[in-house]
Amino acid sequence: MEKEKILTWLHLFADKVSENNQYLSDLDSAIGDGDHGTNMARGTTAVIDALEEKQPETVTDIFKLTAMTLISKVGGASGPLYGSAFMGMTKASMQTDDVQQILASGLAEIQKRGKAVAGEKTMVDVWVPVVSALKENTLTADSITQFAEATKELQATKGRASYLGERSVGHIDPGAVSSSYLFSTMLEAGV
Ligand code: ADP
Ligand code: MG
Ligand code: MG
Repeated sequence: MEKEKILTWLHLFADKVSENNQYLSDLDSAIGDGDHGTNMARGTTAVIDALEEKQPETVTDIFKLTAMTLISKVGGASGPLYGSAFMGMTKASMQTDDVQQILASGLAEIQKRGKAVAGEKTMVDVWVPVVSALKENTLTADSITQFAEATKELQATKGRASYLGERSVGHIDPGAVSSSYLFSTMLEAGV
C-alpha cells in the first residue's frame, strides 16, 4: 500500500461524508436518532486535521491516527466500530501490503466489537461482501452501492435500529451507506 494513495483515499472519504452529511443523518432519522451524518462528518474532518498536524510517516501510523481520531470524535455506536476497523487495519498493515487482508482484519475487529454478522442490517452488510469481492477480484463501484442498498430489505437485529423490529424494514442502513463511501473512495484513490 502506498502512503500517498492512502492519504488521497482518506481525503476523498472525508469529502464524500461531508457532502452527504445530511443524507446520512436523514437515513438515521428513519431508523435511529438522526445523527450518523453529523457523527461521521465530525470524525472524518478531525481525521484530516490530525493527519495535517501530525504528518504520520507510514501507512501503519496513518491508519492508527485515523483509528484514534475516529474513536475520540465520532461517538455513538459507529465511532468505536470505525475505530476498531482502522485498528484492525493498523495491525494487519504491519504484516502485509495486501488490501484484501488489511480490510479483512478491519472487518474482524468490527465484528469482535459489535458482534454483528451479515444480515443484521449494519455496516457489516457492506464490509462482508466487499472483503469477499476483493478476494475474487470482482469489486466495482456499482456493486458497493448495491451492497448498501440491499440493507433496505433487512430487519435490524443490532444497534439502535433493532428497537424498531419489523418497522426497520424498508429503510437503508446509514452505517452501510457510510461504509459504501469508504470503499467507493478507496477504488477512486486507486488503493
Ligand atoms: P448511534 O446509533 O449510536 O446514534 P450512529 O448513528 O453514528 O450511532 O451509527 C449507526 C450505525 O452503526 C448503524 O447504521 C449501523 O450500521 C452501525 N451499527 C450499530 N450497531 C452495530 C453493530 N453492533 N455492528 C456493526 N455496526 C453497527
Ligand atoms: Mg445515530
Ligand atoms: Mg447517536
